[in-house]
Amino acid sequence: NRRILLKQRPQGMPTPDDFAIVEAPVPALGADEVLVRNRFLSLDPYMRGQMDGGKSYIQAIEIGDVMNGHTVGEVVESKNAAFAPGDLVWGPGHWQEYAVLKSPPLRKITGSHSPSAWLGPMGLPGWTAYVGLFDLGAPKPGETIVVSSATGAVGALVGQLAKRYGLRTVGIAGGEAKCRYAVDELGYDVCVDYKSSDFPAALAAACPTGVDIDFENVGGAILDAVWPLLNSHARVIICGLMAQYNLKTKYPGPELTHLLKSRLTIRGFIISDYAGRFPEAIAQMSARLASGEIKIREDITDGIENAPSAFIGMLQGRNFGKTIVRIG
Ligand code: NDP
Repeated sequence: NRRILLKQRPQGMPTPDDFAIVEAPVPALGADEVLVRNRFLSLDPYMRGQMDGGKSYIQAIEIGDVMNGHTVGEVVESKNAAFAPGDLVWGPGHWQEYAVLKSPPLRKITGSHSPSAWLGPMGLPGWTAYVGLFDLGAPKPGETIVVSSATGAVGALVGQLAKRYGLRTVGIAGGEAKCRYAVDELGYDVCVDYKSSDFPAALAAACPTGVDIDFENVGGAILDAVWPLLNSHARVIICGLMAQYNLKTKYPGPELTHLLKSRLTIRGFIISDYAGRFPEAIAQMSARLASGEIKIREDITDGIENAPSAFIGMLQGRNFGKTIVRIG
């Protein structure tokens, strides 16, 4: 039973030296357990974070542990009445040839799909694409969506779902072959190669009416190029940050990895959109001022002629409280 272990924590981009391959005996089965010969192993970006150790939204892999991940395999021996040799199964089989698993999480796979599809459209990528697009993206037909890593496991599904839903789909991918595939096979309206020298301009040209949804799989310079194209009320779905997982120093700007891991919401607003809330807000503030629940401080300058200097002072932080000019 060959297994791949985490040998050491990577510094930046992982190297083969961070892994070890070992031979281990196939374990004996306990009550209710099932021995699975793994046939397909899913490799996913989240594993990179697990290699770092420390506290995160997902459990770290300790040095010396088998690298973890989901597999599709075949039952070879079973002490569980629900599974028989030859059954195709899905479960956390990890980076190894044989796994001993229990149900749950072990699940039987049926149907006509190729077994490996349970690691793609019917696995983590499909689940992520569907929920990210429809639940978080709140798409409306006719809108423009940008999908980075457009041909990847998640991105390819997002692009196809979005196109079917009536959105204009703009992919971003690395290299001409991936871009051609995105348009010809996946049905993106257009795909922009982020490795081309004029990428930000090409992306802007591909989005003549701006961007309503950014399904962000990459971050870094890709997100920087999408940012100025976002329309009013656009939704930016930070699904992943491929460009940032292996950086040794922080990418400039707010720490989006924290945003992702802590499921933060960043939401812009302009108060004039909330005219209907004006009466309640003002009545509440009036009552709270009258009761003393709210304190105010005013920074009053006398004379209209002093308005410019008071204004400039406010911009420079010389005001202390609400800046007001007393006229006459
Ligand atoms: P992919 O199949 O998309 O593979 C990764 C791709 O990322 C590469 O093929 C490459 O595509 C792109 N990439 C890598 N580095 C860079 C870079 N520096 N700049 C631009 N592109 C880069 O992986 P998945 O579909 O499995 O995952 C896609 C994203 O979804 C990841 O960020 C992942 O973390 C995230 N994810 C998030 C989940 C969640 O719960 N939030 C769940 C599942 C996935 P190219 O050649 O086009 O650049």
